[in-house]
Amino acid sequence: MDDTPDNHPEARDDHAVVLGAGLAGLLAARVLAERFARVTVVERDELPRDGPAFRPGVPQSRHAHVLWSRGVDVMERLLPGLTAALREGGSALLESPRDFLWLSPADWFRSVPGAPVLVGSRELIDWCVRRAVLGDPRIRILDGRPADGLLAGPDGRSVTGVTLRGGEPLAAGLVVDATGRTSKAPTWLAALGHPVPAVTRYDSHLGYSSRLYAAPPDPGRRWHGMYVQGRPDSPRGGVLVPQGGDRWLVTLIGNGEHAPSTKGEEFLDFAGSLRSPALHDAIRGATPLSDPTGFRGTANERRHYERMDRRPDGFLVLGDAACRFNPVYGHGMTVAALTAQALQGAIAGLTPAQVRAATHRIQRATADEASVAWQIATSEDLRYPQTEGPPPDRATRVLQRYMSRVMVGANADPALSSRFFGVLSLSTPPNALLGPATMVRVLSKWRLPTSPATPAYPPHHPPPPAA
Ligand SMILES: Cc1cc2nc3c(=O)[nH]c(=O)nc-3n(C[C@H](O)[C@H](O)[C@H](O)COP(=O)(O)OP(=O)(O)OC[C@H]3O[C@@H](n4cnc5c(N)ncnc54)[C@H](O)[C@@H]3O)c2cc1C
Repeated sequence: MDDTPDNHPEARDDHAVVLGAGLAGLLAARVLAERFARVTVVERDELPRDGPAFRPGVPQSRHAHVLWSRGVDVMERLLPGLTAALREGGSALLESPRDFLWLSPADWFRSVPGAPVLVGSRELIDWCVRRAVLGDPRIRILDGRPADGLLAGPDGRSVTGVTLRGGEPLAAGLVVDATGRTSKAPTWLAALGHPVPAVTRYDSHLGYSSRLYAAPPDPGRRWHGMYVQGRPDSPRGGVLVPQGGDRWLVTLIGNGEHAPSTKGEEFLDFAGSLRSPALHDAIRGATPLSDPTGFRGTANERRHYERMDRRPDGFLVLGDAACRFNPVYGHGMTVAALTAQALQGAIAGLTPAQVRAATHRIQRATADEASVAWQIATSEDLRYPQTEGPPPDRATRVLQRYMSRVMVGANADPALSSRFFGVLSLSTPPNALLGPATMVRVLSKWRLPTSPATPAYPPHHPPPPAA
């Protein structure tokens, strides 16, 4: 063992190590610092020092990110002043769907209230969160240092630290894996002789392609963002979100063979093949500021660490490393925040040694926070026939039919819209859509569309003159 302070056994217990400086890791570090004297965040990438910037460990930052109001609220509570910093940096807090041109699988949303959503650069979100978390003197970052394994105690039943690339040990009373979708935790556990978690996976084979544009000035424009959703009979869609500095980030999406191209010349054609021409109309005269970038690997995948009977003390897995979602529903960052909040509750009043001994219970408490987002993403993905995964049970099929009608109602009815977006933003529990008054509104037959065709533009927004 080396002689650095972190590797003295007596210094180890009140030291927590978090692997991964993504949102899940940083927010976990923030709450662990309430119980541990020192928290070290180990990050594989060299982190940008001078402001928001792309880095390879978070490739998804090149694609549209929305942060639902629940995520904004929880992060603001953990890191006071964060929302103001994000808005100062160019993010916008929009009312969804009111500030968007939004074509749902059923019809256009009218200009109804729903839930606030923060849009802007994902790199800015990471930068502001990192700056706020590192303002705590108990938290330090070791960047440019990939973790490559776990250290076990002599009893073999507990994790006592990690190894960094090159074999350097880092001792800790608690290790949190927040290394995202590429997490190697199952391999690391197996190397110590522990079982690996069961996995549930649903893959709708959704592909992304994103491109940055200069937003053309238009004083008459009445929307701030756009979302043209696909649906099983037309599985192509697109999102346009402001990035600050008069820039738009446009993300095109499609399932399976409908995945969008990353060739510049085909990007616009794909936008023209959506259920509405609105997105194509918006960008055809806009100047691209980047080449398109693709992203595949959007499966929902849950590694059930919370169900493992035999797991080591002193080890937790959080964020995308434990549960990742098809990103099209925009839930990963909010779930990372909710998970940090649940971690905070689960460790309240415990000593570091008690936290270490309670990791099984804490893993279950944090895993619960992913359940609603998981249910939304997987039941919606199962509408697409090519989705791979366990088939929907009867309850899911009933839920899908009911949610189709909720969507129809929410398109135009302000009361339903608010409840629908309350659930989608993870602010209200899904049973808010199951009360008797809501069910009567949802099931009234007059709302059902007579034809699956939808107009090119919503009634409250005429097409642009040249379209
Ligand atoms: C295309 C796409 C679009 C998305 N859009 C949205 C959206 O609109 N809204 C939303 O809420 N969520 C969205 N998400 C999800 C969101 O990006 C994640 O849920 C969120 O980033 C939380 O992730 P995380 O912190 O668990 O992992 P990540 O953000 O992936 O961070 C993991 C970190 O671990 C580091 N790391 C990896 N391996 C090691 C190692 N061995 N040692 C040390 N460090 C390591 C990485 O470098 C990285 O910094 C999207 C995801 C994708 C893929």
